[in-house]
Formats: sequence, C-alpha cells, structure tokens
Amino acid sequence: MNALVPYRRLTIKIGSALLVDKTGRLRAQWLANLASDLAALKTDGCEVVIVSSGAIALGRGLLGLSAVALTLEQSQAAASAGQIALSQAWAEALGRHDIVTGQILITPNITEERRYYLNARTTIATLLGLGAVPIINENDSVATAEIRYGDNDRLSARVATMIEADCLVLLSDIDGLYTAPPAKDPDARHLPEVRVITPAIEAMAGGAASHLSRGGMTTKVEAGKIATQAGTAMIIAKGTEDHPLKALTEGGRHTLFYPAESRAQARKRWIMGSLALAGTLSVDAGAARALLTGKSLLPIGVTRVTGEFERGDAIAVLNPDGIEIARGLAGLDSDEARLVMGKRSDAVQELLGTSNRAALIHRDNMVLVGAKEESHELG
Ligand code: GLU
Repeated sequence: MNALVPYRRLTIKIGSALLVDKTGRLRAQWLANLASDLAALKTDGCEVVIVSSGAIALGRGLLGLSAVALTLEQSQAAASAGQIALSQAWAEALGRHDIVTGQILITPNITEERRYYLNARTTIATLLGLGAVPIINENDSVATAEIRYGDNDRLSARVATMIEADCLVLLSDIDGLYTAPPAKDPDARHLPEVRVITPAIEAMAGGAASHLSRGGMTTKVEAGKIATQAGTAMIIAKGTEDHPLKALTEGGRHTLFYPAESRAQARKRWIMGSLALAGTLSVDAGAARALLTGKSLLPIGVTRVTGEFERGDAIAVLNPDGIEIARGLAGLDSDEARLVMGKRSDAVQELLGTSNRAALIHRDNMVLVGAKEESHELG
C-alpha cells in the first residue's frame, strides 16, 4: 500500500545520521536518491517542505572537530559552517531535477509568535506556490539555550502544523515505534499505527537517541502530539536505506499516527475557542448573506471597524443588527481595514499596493457563529 497517497502537502524531516556519515561527510549518493524520490512526489502533485538536520554534523567535519565532544560555542560554530554546506547540498541535489530550493532558518519565537509565524508561513506558501522546495532548519548558530528547540523532530512538527501539512514524515534510523526500545528489548514489537497518543504510547518511546541526532523516540512521540492535535498525520519511517520515500509509496514499514481531527476542524476550534477578540467588523446585509454561503469577507461589504487589531488577530463580524454572525482571523490590521472598508477590490489593491491580501477575513480563517455548519463540523 502507498502510505503517502492520501497526502497533498508533506513536511519531511531528515535526521542528521541519514545525511552525514560517521566521519562527518555528506552521504551524497543517498541524498541524490532521495532527491529523485522528492522529484517524483512533486510530479505527482505533492507539495513538499523539508526540515533538514545535519548542519552541526557536517560543520564538525569541516572545522576539524569530529573527534571532540562539542561545547555549546563549538556546536554553534559548527552549525554556522555546516549550514552553508547543507544548503548547498540540497540546492545541488534538487537542482538536478530542476527544483529550486529556499532556505529558512527558524527559532521557536518564529513558530510561536503570531506575527513572525504569519510571515514565515506566507514565505513558505509563496515558495510552494512557485514550485520550490523550502529547506528548513533551526537557526542553531544564534539560538540561545533557552530559546531553541534543540531537536528537529518537534521543530518539524511545528512547521508541519504552521503550514497545515496533511502529513509529517520523520525519516530516521528506525522504522517506527516499538512497544519498547528494540535495541534493549528483544521482545519489542513494531506498531504499524497509533490511533491516539496515550501515556502508554509515550512510555514505549523510552529515551534512546542515535549517535548524531539530538532527538530519540521521545521527541518523535512529542512531535506526534503536536502534529496530530493540529490535524496533521505523522509517519515515522526508516530513512537509512536508499530511496526511503519511494519505499513508503511501495508499502515500506512505518508507524502511522492518526490525526486527532481534520485540519479544518482543528483550525475552527482554535478560532472559536482559544483567542481573545481584538475588534469587530460590521457588515452590510449583502456581505452577511455572502458569508453564510461560504464566501470570504471583502472590504466592500464592511461598514464599520472597531478595536485595534493586527493581521492574524481574532475578530468578530457583526450583521446590520449588531449580532455576531462570524469570527475569524483578520487579513489586514485595523488601520488598513479602516482605510479600505467600503471600497471595491481594485481600489483596495491600489491603496494597499498588494494583490494577495484583498480579503478582510479569508473564508478558510472564518467560522460562522450559530450556523448549522458549525454545529455538525465542531460537534
Ligand atoms: N539542527 C541540528 C542540525 O542541523 C539538528 C537537530 C536534530 O538532530 O534534531 O545539526
């Protein structure tokens, strides 16, 4: 069975031990083969975002630090030297398939603070829209001990949920989750799927890490919690052999973690549940009707803006009687909204000088309040 067939947008995390051998050298042939798997996925219409480890492992070799236990300063220096080599390796490997790569280095404030988050998400979406493959890693050379993920398992889960990937694939040196760490327990059994991450599942992960990567099975299961709770499936598969993604499409062994709910449901729950409202938009009767049929909210239908909000903040939509009919994430900040309310889209474009931000609330970022749709989608 093709394990990747249900998915259109994948985040694929590649561990250091796959990309870099024990002497600190790039496994170039392995990467070349992986690149052809990725090119095949793209030809099938899949969007792919890579989270690649390996900067520190490569940089160690380059700086002659292979044999020593690295201090924090040395590993940050190694990341700095290694990241250049890593990006170059990706650019060359995918370049052979005429695929352009874009590098994005991330620290937790980028995935956790909404303004950075929205920007990073837009950059990644733009790269994907242009047919490129974003290559992401932690910005290890500047991240401080307090502000870093430290492992690319959880980082990749945050990236996957940020870009609303359908599935996160963790390629590592093990073909999935076992009932106990298989290196220690000969009776350990492989689990082909995990429906829900229970404390018993977490206990199975143990603490084993491989010689190069920071994350063991524990951070992978933590990544699974982040991903599945946001509606993204996760697959753990072995990447050490050649063509690991092709192997997954041909029935290769792996563990599938099921998403807790669909992404649309998770998003709507998030919009409805967890945010304080920063303002309101009052709309005319025509816009109110349009929203009920599933349209985005355009500036022309807006008659009044209250509150101070930024793009990405949660706001309410009020009908001409002042009754809340929807909630959503603002596509513009409140000053821009005041500037463009009541205006047609072409005038809006002229005022804002951009073409892709015409909606005040995009329908994907909106939940109708009290509508039938909501009760059965959220119920
Ligand atoms: N960001 C690290 C690197 O590129 C790897 C972290 C990990 O292995 O999870 O070297």
